Amino acid sequence: MLTSAIEKVVNLISPYECMICGKQDCVVCDECWTRNANTRVSSCFWCNSLSEKGKTCKMCATKTSLSGATVPYRFNGLVKECIYELKYYSNREMARFLASQVAESIDSTQFDFISFVPTTGRNQRRRGYNQAKLLAKEISIMSGLHFVTALARVQHVDQIGLNRNERLSAIRDNFVAIDGFSGKRVLLVDDVITTGATLNECAKTLKQSGVKSVWSIAVAKK
Ligand SMILES: [Zn+2]
Ligand SMILES: [Zn+2]
Repeated sequence: MLTSAIEKVVNLISPYECMICGKQDCVVCDECWTRNANTRVSSCFWCNSLSEKGKTCKMCATKTSLSGATVPYRFNGLVKECIYELKYYSNREMARFLASQVAESIDSTQFDFISFVPTTGRNQRRRGYNQAKLLAKEISIMSGLHFVTALARVQHVDQIGLNRNERLSAIRDNFVAIDGFSGKRVLLVDDVITTGATLNECAKTLKQSGVKSVWSIAVAKK
């Protein structure tokens, strides 16, 4: 109640306007989004070869734990600006907007729960929020999928002085699965996919804890 009252006041003081044309009451208007957001073709998140709906290709399916990733946009131009806005200003309206742009790409009947990739400890501690979590909550509202916290990040490992292999095992130890989702199909939200290594680690951790399958949805891929 209090939050929504504060939100209303904030909206009165600073109404949203389209980042490009200045149209009122939206963070980006439909016309500007359609004209400026670069879509991408569906591909395997791991090797980038073309694949229907972002399903992990046969070659990579033996090497990764993620069944596939739905990533409708390329990380450049307007999309990049919007994600920046979400990352550094915790803009709930932007989270809602980006969620609405990607939510329609998924079939919610294919999943039991929606969750999110925990952010790297140090950055999140400084900012105090997680943009993937913000997106996941909004997609949950739009899709009707039940929102859960399925993963936690264990204490940050100082990687200075470690060799490559030690560093890889440090990354592997970074996530821990939260019990209660055994046999379930999890949709894991992230904002941007870079190499896919983090998602792969998250999926592996979840599968090891008994989760049946993990699919990801992200706004953009680098
Ligand atoms: Zn506009
Ligand atoms: Zn592949």
